[in-house]
Amino acid sequence: MIEVLTNLKLIFFIVFFVVFMMLENYFSQRNTKSKMKRLFFHGTIAVVNTLIMRVFVIFLLIPVMMITNENQYGLLNTIEYNFFLEALFGFLLLDFAFYWFHRISHTWDFLWRFHGMHHLDTQMDVTTSLRFHIGELLISAFFKAVLIITLGLPISVFIFYEIILTASAQFHHSDLRLPESLDSKISKIIVTPKYHTNHHTVAELSRNANYASIFTVWDYLFFTYKNATVTEREYLGVDDRSKEFGFIDNIKYPLRKL
Ligand SMILES: [Zn+2]
Ligand SMILES: [Zn+2]
Repeated sequence: MIEVLTNLKLIFFIVFFVVFMMLENYFSQRNTKSKMKRLFFHGTIAVVNTLIMRVFVIFLLIPVMMITNENQYGLLNTIEYNFFLEALFGFLLLDFAFYWFHRISHTWDFLWRFHGMHHLDTQMDVTTSLRFHIGELLISAFFKAVLIITLGLPISVFIFYEIILTASAQFHHSDLRLPESLDSKISKIIVTPKYHTNHHTVAELSRNANYASIFTVWDYLFFTYKNATVTEREYLGVDDRSKEFGFIDNIKYPLRKL
């Protein structure tokens, strides 16, 4: 069952990725430079990361999910809801937890060392969603293990959340701009490409804000929604923009002086 669901996640990941790549080809707004170089660089990072993370999924997350399920550990297992309510509540709690994980990744120097690599990108397209330091993914795997066991998440809900999170990340990093009026309506509910571009600006006021992953409600609720100006949204990355590419520079990035 778990094997089927994790394979399903990989299939959705590839299908959504190809669809967004194709849409970007026809509806690109930013005319991203060096598309093939970006695909190769970020694609290689993703393949290496996925292979390493596979070990942690098999030896950490799957056993934790099975133990939680068998022993009925966690918050959701103490309250007898019907499955739909339990799934809905679990989904929202996960999104809430990831909002805080992302927020702390910006405010705690230790996590920013790793998460900063994602922000080194001076452009943004669907391939940016592949750009994460392996250290950040390892830390988040332990965070997910704690969440599964304390929340008592059903396996299917956790994997469903991961599938939607992946699709959301590919969408909001993509170089697709929705019409302004549509964007302002949709971004009241979910993260759009324009919304997340605010988060990738060199300008710190909007970069250290807009942390939502799927639902934007958390940013509104905790006062971290900050709209950047049009000019700010054209200048993406961090102050030091010299290390965008280069595997060694990116792997070593957490060791930089802060
Ligand atoms: Zn961030
Ligand atoms: Zn991002």
